[in-house]
Amino acid sequence: MKKIKTDFLIIGAGFYGCVLAERIASVMKKKVVILEKRDHIGGNCYSETDKETGIEFHKYGTHIFHTSINSVWEYLKDFTSFNSYRHQVLSRFKNKIYQLPINLETINNFFKKDFTPSEAKRFILRETKKFSKTQKINFEVKAKSQIGEKLYNAFIKNYTYKQWGKNPKELPASIFNRLPLRFDYNESYFKNALVQGIPQDGYTKIFERLIDSANIDIIYNYNYEYNNDHDIKYLTIYTGPLDKLLNNKFGKLDWRSLKFKKQIMNCEDFQGTSVINFPEKKYKFTRIHEPRHLHVERNYGKKTLIIKEFPTLDNNEPYYPINDTQNRSRHKKYKDFLNKNNKKLIFGGRLADYAYYDMDMTISAALKKFDFIKKNFKN
Ligand code: UDP
Repeated sequence: MKKIKTDFLIIGAGFYGCVLAERIASVMKKKVVILEKRDHIGGNCYSETDKETGIEFHKYGTHIFHTSINSVWEYLKDFTSFNSYRHQVLSRFKNKIYQLPINLETINNFFKKDFTPSEAKRFILRETKKFSKTQKINFEVKAKSQIGEKLYNAFIKNYTYKQWGKNPKELPASIFNRLPLRFDYNESYFKNALVQGIPQDGYTKIFERLIDSANIDIIYNYNYEYNNDHDIKYLTIYTGPLDKLLNNKFGKLDWRSLKFKKQIMNCEDFQGTSVINFPEKKYKFTRIHEPRHLHVERNYGKKTLIIKEFPTLDNNEPYYPINDTQNRSRHKKYKDFLNKNNKKLIFGGRLADYAYYDMDMTISAALKKFDFIKKNFKN
């Protein structure tokens, strides 16, 4: 491979890399080369169209955009508009459908009650009482102290086992914080978001627009190695996992990964909604996605596409950081080493930070990093 000559080199064409490429190219008017390991842009947000049904789907799992960060919305709206999709999640337990996040409807339905909000609060307080004094240092204790044992056993315990391949006792409590508990009938998953929806023309188009500049070149199928002796005037920005970058010098970082199984169904609507969770052990998959429901504004045909999601352990296809103590301390070693030893390489994003970021958090982090770059690499 011939030597690359550029002002900035960016490794990885996900949100972190593409937002920085766009900012550097358009505001600083500098040259950027992006090296992407896969044969497409967009990282795990990539969307494509299924040939047989014409239905657009998210290749690496359903992504719902939602944000309450003003600066992110102000930035992103130049690259896409969003449709009116409002995310709702259902969970199938013992052949019955329940609403998630757990809300008044879930509680009444599950316990066969007719509680008002305050009655439900008192009820859950009784259910959680014996766990409320325990130190909430792990996922299981935290979950039981919020929703009690019965709801935990039905909707959370086995889903979490399947999702993470670990005993929930070994997982950080912070993962449970992603799931709100409600005492009203609101079933909007992201009820407080200022903006939410699915990009009108799909995610991939956002990335195409972000890098549509004479100052940006992208090379696909490129496996970047730390010691490639490219001619970089200012900085290399690395957005992949840090253990890969340094040949596992301090040990491997564990990642939870996903595999997807697509099926075309000979009906217009298979499950009536975009995602149903399957928390029972007897199903190996955790969710079934039906992407036609993400775009109700489109006229899709008579067949539908469903996608089953199977969690796996695979460090080569990283999705979710397994944020336990050992992995966190390993990640810190990588971070400290790079910060100390290489002033011309910076890193960030979900993979490099080993963090469970949503899309908007990644964009926000990239915009902040750009402020730093602009200040420090002016000439
Ligand atoms: N979770 C669960 N049951 C569900 C949905 C989620 O136990 O039906 C737990 C599980 O441990 C999961 C975590 O809550 O990893 C966060 O869920 P979220 O839906 O936010 O995960 P993501 O959409 O990022 O995969």
